[in-house]
Amino acid sequence: MEALAASDSMGLVRKGYESAESEKARTRRAGPRGTARPRAVRTGRTAAALVLAGLIAAACAPSEERAPAHDPSPDARNAAPDEVPGSGDLLSVPARALAARAERLRRAPSVRQAVARRWGLRSAPLAPPPPPTVKPVLTTPEGLRRGAHDPADGLPHVITRVPTDDRVIFLTIDDGDDKDPRLLRMIRELNVPVSAFLTHSLARDGYGYFREMRDLGAGIQNHTLTHPYLPNLPYERQRREICAQQDNLERETGVRPVMFRPPFGGYDHATLRAAASCGIEVVPLWTEEVFPERTEYRRGALDGRFRPGDIVLTHFRGPAHWDGDMRDVLRRLLDQATEEGFAVALLEDYIEAP
Ligand SMILES: [Zn+2]
Repeated sequence: MEALAASDSMGLVRKGYESAESEKARTRRAGPRGTARPRAVRTGRTAAALVLAGLIAAACAPSEERAPAHDPSPDARNAAPDEVPGSGDLLSVPARALAARAERLRRAPSVRQAVARRWGLRSAPLAPPPPPTVKPVLTTPEGLRRGAHDPADGLPHVITRVPTDDRVIFLTIDDGDDKDPRLLRMIRELNVPVSAFLTHSLARDGYGYFREMRDLGAGIQNHTLTHPYLPNLPYERQRREICAQQDNLERETGVRPVMFRPPFGGYDHATLRAAASCGIEVVPLWTEEVFPERTEYRRGALDGRFRPGDIVLTHFRGPAHWDGDMRDVLRRLLDQATEEGFAVALLEDYIEAP
């Protein structure tokens, strides 16, 4: 466990073994699994799948590139969600975002290669396979449990990787402090799937940035109100840190998260009970952490290579925090992934929606 506290090193993770009985009852009454998720989002995912299927089918036919090969960036701008064919007002936010991603995938390989080189990559990132129609069954490894973790108790699964044979890794970006517009451009032009785990106190002055990211297909997930070390707090305070941020994110981005990452990777049994009561289904930790100048391997295989389903962590940070910027982080991650034959996929695509 200690490895998980690494870059956020605020102390060791402690174990909590509080009784789950009263909370189990509350959890059942509250019906956290799915009931908190707006119907529009569920409908949106279905519509998005249909649109995506249609666009992927269309992509198999030869198509004209709208952008000249020498400067592909206008094409990327043209692929803004509102301008994707068939993605008008009738589609929900996630449907439009997925349609935009599918549209960008239609670009010819030569254009993708040119875009990659312009961002300083050695070669174009590999495209991920289609999202699995049957989502992987998650379990919480023994070492990540905090006391009783019966499948019937409604606690979210704690994972550091997704069980899949697909050669994919997942990029998750935490906090929300630095809001570099170049990261948005890079995500858009290189079609990089990311999941943003947002802390209200850090993201609140610029939720518009994350709405743009959402429109590019990014997942929006929960990383508390104020980024505390949760095991130091009583249950009710923990619950407020998670539930109130669910409300903030739904209001600001239209997305009510199903995933929650505890700050510093620190959690106890109360954290998991609190998260469940707020509608959280999965608590993804991470396997690797990527910085502008290095990648750190936290657990499992420490041989410096990715494994299928690895969850990779980084942070919204800039030169004020570390030696480099988000472009360096993405370059490092994408080049390494491509070299090892991995694509970056969207974590949300591998998680069962309620
Ligand atoms: Zn954090």
